[in-house]
Amino acid sequence: MATKTRIEIDASSRTFSSGLLPELIAALRRCRTGDLFGVIGREADIGADLEAWCRFTRNTLIDATTAAGRTRWVIRCGEAPASAVGDRPVGSRLWLYTNFDCNLHCDYCCVRSSPQAPRRALGLERVRRIANEAAELGVNEVFVTGSEPFLLPDIGGILSACSAAAPTTVLTNGMLFAGRRLETLRSLPRHRLTLQISLDSPTPARHDRHRGAGTWARAWRGVERARAEGFRVRLAATVSTEAEAEEFRRFLNARQIAEEDRVIRRIALRGVATQGIALARADLVPEITITADGVYWHPVGAEDSDLLVTSDIFPLAEAFAAVRRAFDRESEHQRRLAQIFNCA
Ligand code: SF4
Repeated sequence: MATKTRIEIDASSRTFSSGLLPELIAALRRCRTGDLFGVIGREADIGADLEAWCRFTRNTLIDATTAAGRTRWVIRCGEAPASAVGDRPVGSRLWLYTNFDCNLHCDYCCVRSSPQAPRRALGLERVRRIANEAAELGVNEVFVTGSEPFLLPDIGGILSACSAAAPTTVLTNGMLFAGRRLETLRSLPRHRLTLQISLDSPTPARHDRHRGAGTWARAWRGVERARAEGFRVRLAATVSTEAEAEEFRRFLNARQIAEEDRVIRRIALRGVATQGIALARADLVPEITITADGVYWHPVGAEDSDLLVTSDIFPLAEAFAAVRRAFDRESEHQRRLAQIFNCA
């Protein structure tokens, strides 16, 4: 599905030397920070000029797709918010997408998960090998996510292997802790394992609007169940505005939830989301992410081709090196462009 934009410019055969620039400036004047606009043209070569122009003007080229001889570039007005954790060494944090199917189909899911999504499981054997090799590579945090990891029959083994290698957080919607899955939960190590449970709002209305009727109440029961079983629980909210974030902060404060046990993030314009923060590769400090399909730049686009670094997971050291090489190369490119634009 094409990314929705506020304005579309039909550049046809125009380039920067034949009239495109005034149209870009006019589009920027009509946009607010965070708005997207599209440029559709027949000259694929203008992509490099658009990228340079975006960097000079502190806007962000977030996407380029070509079909039937025409390319569509999507540009976000303004830069992505600065990362508070931008100095975390690349490779210290490792994400594993254990599967891509989910019991929910949230309307902003960044990896298009749903009950109909094919499983595409990483599998216990591969996870064990990754965990062994990761321990040698200086990984000090592992995040296990799915879609919904607790759908997997071998999630117990997966989490045990990961938490033996490094402190591990499993991301879950918290709705499946019953029957056989509750037994699995009970069997998990409490040491070095945190459950990060999604809860988008203090009351059901907004959470249920994005995730489905009755999901807030079931997630909250999951939080209580996990705590009663002796697990450390982190609450994670995905919100649309700063006002929603502030409301959730008040909810957490009232319950005296520690800072390290809360995550509040904005909806990303990836996957099935139609609104949110547009994030291009250049906006993201890499957090190495492994799926059944390969090694990705960041978990927020773990099935998007612009974030795929390599299809080869093993040897893990080589996959890590590939991400670091790409990061160094792209950082250098950014620095060079910044220098070219020096005015004095
Ligand atoms: S956002 Fe999470 S819970 Fe919702 S569909 Fe995606 S993976 Fe499942």
